[in-house]
Amino acid sequence: MVATNMTQQAERIDGKARAADLRATVADQVAALGTAHAITPGLAVVLVGADPASQTYVRSKRKLTRAIGMESFEHNLAASVSQAELLALIRTLNDDERVNGILVQLPLPDHIASQAVLETIRPDKDVDGFHVRNTGALWTGGDPLVPCTPLGCMMLLQSAVASLDGLHAVIIGRSNIVGKPIANLLLRADCTVTLAHSHTRDLPALCRQADILVAATGRPQMVRGDWIKPGAAIIDVGINRSEDPATGKRRLIGDVAFDEACQVAGAITPVPGGVGPMTIACLLHNTLVATCRQHNISIDALESA
Ligand code: NAP
Repeated sequence: MVATNMTQQAERIDGKARAADLRATVADQVAALGTAHAITPGLAVVLVGADPASQTYVRSKRKLTRAIGMESFEHNLAASVSQAELLALIRTLNDDERVNGILVQLPLPDHIASQAVLETIRPDKDVDGFHVRNTGALWTGGDPLVPCTPLGCMMLLQSAVASLDGLHAVIIGRSNIVGKPIANLLLRADCTVTLAHSHTRDLPALCRQADILVAATGRPQMVRGDWIKPGAAIIDVGINRSEDPATGKRRLIGDVAFDEACQVAGAITPVPGGVGPMTIACLLHNTLVATCRQHNISIDALESA
């Protein structure tokens, strides 16, 4: 555990700084890959429709991809695009040697079967880690491309908690893209893992047993201060848009009541500035990993180049 003093304010786990460090490391590795092998990693992002939040994510992905020296390929398709047309684009990207990573921005319109789309991406270019080959390898102890948000959560936890070994981790939320892969990664780190969801009985009592509490529900400030075990490490994955009652301005809040939690927890990620920035940094990291694997190059060798 991180701390046991109830009167102490929790350590803020600075996702913005950690993400900047990770991007700087990836940028160095990209430069080394170019020098040693004349390879520039390429990331293709496919956006269907004009959802403003998705457009914002795609814009920042493009900006950060280029900033660290990778190629960015963007494909904006109309919301009315057919599933067959989308699958045809993915197959083209699968065969394009300049493209090392493919990301399809979710959610997709209702007439498109998301799983069919994700299963069409070549598993070794699946930088979101959602292909069943990658999720299966995560469960069976392989070495897959790991979903970006869960990977970022683990990096933040490892920066705040000296050893995860034997700690009880409670994850609230069991989605395929967040809750389940985080549970898996914590299990692989030798935590004892409880995966909670909307049918879980007496959730506050369960959370009070958690050395590590991960909230991924999309329910603003659902986790209260008195749900938290003193000294626990809290990872707040939630991103909820709400109006600040004091200023009337729109703001982002998490699934955890941050001010209350700070009085009890040992360490906590803020929203914004916690898990969010790590997601894109991990996407860039995964794109580099995918590129190196496709060319049989060791990332460790790049670090010492
Ligand atoms: P999701 O697919 O809607 O899943 C929500 C999960 O929370 C479900 O498993 C649901 O249980 C559970 N849940 C909902 N209400 C609950 C309650 N009252 N008590 C206990 N469990 C409850 O959401 P998601 O895609 O995993 O995303 C979760 C949150 O993370 C959202 O706020 C999302 O915006 C955010 N997010 C952030 C990032 C990032 O980069 N920081 C990335 C992805 C997602 P059931 O399964 O029983 O319905």
